[in-house]
Amino acid sequence: MHTDTDTLHFLDDESDASVTAGLVWRLMVIDDEPDVHRATTFALAGVKILGRPLQFLHAYSAVEATQLLKTEPEVAVVLLDVVMEREDAGLALVKTIRQDLHLTELRIILRTGQPGYAPEIETIHDFDINDYKTKSELTRTKLYATVTAAVRAYEQIRKLDQLAFYDRLCSLPNRNKFIDLSDLRLASDEYASDVIAILDIDDFSEINDALGHQQGDRLLQSVAERLKLELGTNVILARLGGDTFGLMGDVSQLDPLTVLDLFRTPFKVNDDSMVVTATMGLTHYLGKSVAGRDALKDANIALKLAKKSRRGSFVVFSAQMGADIRERVRLLQSLRHAVESERLFVVYQPQVNLTSGKLVGVEALIRWRNEDGSFVPPDRFIPLAEASGMIVAIGDWVLRVSCHELTRLQALGLPDLRMSVNVSQIQFRHPEFLEKLRSAIVDTAINPKCLELEITESVAMEDPDFMLETLHKIRKMDISVAIDDFGTGYSSLSHLRQLPIDRLKIDRAFVTELSNAVLGGHIASMVIELGRNLNLTVIAEGIEEESQAQTLLRMGCHEGQGYLYAKPMPSAQLIEWIQNRGAAV
Ligand code: C2E
Ligand code: CA
Ligand code: CA
Repeated sequence: MHTDTDTLHFLDDESDASVTAGLVWRLMVIDDEPDVHRATTFALAGVKILGRPLQFLHAYSAVEATQLLKTEPEVAVVLLDVVMEREDAGLALVKTIRQDLHLTELRIILRTGQPGYAPEIETIHDFDINDYKTKSELTRTKLYATVTAAVRAYEQIRKLDQLAFYDRLCSLPNRNKFIDLSDLRLASDEYASDVIAILDIDDFSEINDALGHQQGDRLLQSVAERLKLELGTNVILARLGGDTFGLMGDVSQLDPLTVLDLFRTPFKVNDDSMVVTATMGLTHYLGKSVAGRDALKDANIALKLAKKSRRGSFVVFSAQMGADIRERVRLLQSLRHAVESERLFVVYQPQVNLTSGKLVGVEALIRWRNEDGSFVPPDRFIPLAEASGMIVAIGDWVLRVSCHELTRLQALGLPDLRMSVNVSQIQFRHPEFLEKLRSAIVDTAINPKCLELEITESVAMEDPDFMLETLHKIRKMDISVAIDDFGTGYSSLSHLRQLPIDRLKIDRAFVTELSNAVLGGHIASMVIELGRNLNLTVIAEGIEEESQAQTLLRMGCHEGQGYLYAKPMPSAQLIEWIQNRGAAV
């Protein structure tokens, strides 16, 4: 009876353009009685609300209304008959409008012939129904008042939504809206060959700093304009934050090379033309069970990798990346758990004087034993603890435990025994580090002369001024410092010479090399000579064979540490080891 064309009766000759321009309020009458349609349009003929005329759309069943609402944009208000093809057709439609079509801004006025069909209060609340009227109540004046209130509410909600979901600078959906829109698309079966991508403008903060924020803003607008224009309306485009854009659309439209090619032409910014590049992270891992938010996380992982490898390029997210990240997250959680349940402990590895064979010190090394008895190697969890900041608390704990252990060991008749503690970069640069160091010494009453901090060569060489200042403060506290993994970094000799340090620790790799006929011991002998020239003690780690120890001794190395002497041991075992050695100590 009603074809697509005659369902739309325009009250006056508003063209389609006025719809998108928002110059009318679009009102949909949904009722199975044609008389109601006539009476409604008649009652509201010529009316203006907030300065705009009304435009009517008509549907005669819930099915027809659903169809119309799917395609007609920006309907402000529906006047909805409760009882149509079925007794609950109207209420079912309300549910469809809110839950399936996600038309949350649209205002709903329910109408019924009989008062008995009033919906429950909860329904009115849950489905955000604006008003409920019996048809007899809808006289011209009452109808006008009801529709005006609904239009005002619609306008207000729209404005709030604009604020909450749109980026004003680029006139684009923002991050929240992008997530909503991508969720909708993922739920709609239309995503089959979609990708979600994040595009990040390279060096944007430098541009901002160099040319000013205004210029930066213009550049963003210009980039947004081009993306909008070139990608077309089938791609969801949003500004996710500062200089990043979110994209969702068919693979064919979001081919990364094509998208990045859009940056080949300079952007017009005021009178300048600016050349910028962008980096992109994409994910194909989409599906009904994937939330837009999670897909965005995947794309972001890919973006980070892309930025790390080369700006102006792209990386596509892979399952392996996700697995790696999940593994890290899992490990980090169990590390937290391990800290809480005291599954971490410290072991100690002897350091000996190469000439006399006497025990001169021990290095504290952290251990983590899983509930199943297996160990997680520190090389795996220390980087994680550093990245998460947990290393600050863990490192402080190792320091205190080691200081306590030192007093215990010294009491065995080793008053000069030294305790070496590894200190990671994050810990070392923490503003409270020196304070924590001081209180650990005070609380355990150790002689600070017997405490040594091991910092790696790369840490020692970074930020020379800070390093110099901090090391001087540490020296003032009578604590000594060793440079760990020496030979693996790129030390500037002149810088090294200035640092107030006590010991160089030759990396295990160069000790292992001693047994290699081809590589020989070039680096080891160089490091030893260097250390001796700088008046530093040199200690070699990872000595496993007697021949290595002999060679090192010949080269002038002072001290050694390694499986040849002992593996790292828990306190009790170390004490036993010391007592068994007797005179050799
Ligand atoms: P590192 O400071 O270079 O520690 C020396 C590593 O070499 C230790 O591994 C030690 O068990 C191992 N090792 C000692 N002698 C031998 C040997 O003869 N042969 C071989 N193959 N290996 C030997 P571990 O305990 O697994 O520690 C690995 C790294 O974890 C350490 O390297 C250090 O960077 C870090 N680490 C350990 N404990 C702590 C800690 O309490 N704080 C911080 N920040 N880092 C720590
Ligand atoms: Ca009816
Ligand atoms: Ca070390």
